[in-house]
Amino acid sequence: IQYHEHLIPLTREQLLNKLDNALSAGRFAHVQRVEKVAMDMAKRFGADVEAASIAGLCHDYAKQRPDEDFIAVIKQKKLDPELLNYGNAIWHGVVGAEMVKDELGVQSEDILDAIRQHTVGGTYMTKLAQIIYMADYIEPARDFEGVDRARELCQSNLGAAVAYQTKHTLEYLIENNQPVYPQTLLTYNAWVPQYR
Ligand code: GDP
Ligand code: FE
Ligand code: FE
Ligand code: FE
Repeated sequence: IQYHEHLIPLTREQLLNKLDNALSAGRFAHVQRVEKVAMDMAKRFGADVEAASIAGLCHDYAKQRPDEDFIAVIKQKKLDPELLNYGNAIWHGVVGAEMVKDELGVQSEDILDAIRQHTVGGTYMTKLAQIIYMADYIEPARDFEGVDRARELCQSNLGAAVAYQTKHTLEYLIENNQPVYPQTLLTYNAWVPQYR
């Protein structure tokens, strides 16, 4: 696959090289599995396959950055100060998208929004954002109670699949006394009652 310069000023080979350097071997393999699932879903649901490749590969680009890097970006870019109450789980997507933009040169807001939303979702998600959110959840190495149902829904009903993940993630967070990022709750309200 060839990338257009207006999406990313790198070849896929150059991008893979940067990701290999930024990520552990396991995380590097994960983003390549997510890329493949996302490209398949983009073909199935009629989204941009090139954007799915870039977003799939870049979604966890910042996952292994130290907390100080995220805190610096939150302050420099005056992002929502509420973010400072959370941690890597939230930052690597919401703040990580800024690093993908500044360090990898991705200018496409469609791709950046898909990265921003890949952990917490959003009240409005483009088809690409829904695909990245789901591909991350169902990539072949994922193994948890309910992953088979999630995979089935990803074949038949993308919106219902988003609702399924959102509900199960919120259940998991509550069950484990984890803090819920406000956008996660907004995603729940926007998607789950609609597909009940
Ligand atoms: P990964 O980066 O490929 O491991 O996957 P994700 O980016 O989707 O998820 C990272 C982690 O964030 C998972 O363990 C989720 O359960 C967790 N997570 C998702 N939403 C929230 C939230 O609202 N609050 C907290 N504390 N964690 C969340
Ligand atoms: Fe992630
Ligand atoms: Fe996810
Ligand atoms: Fe991921």
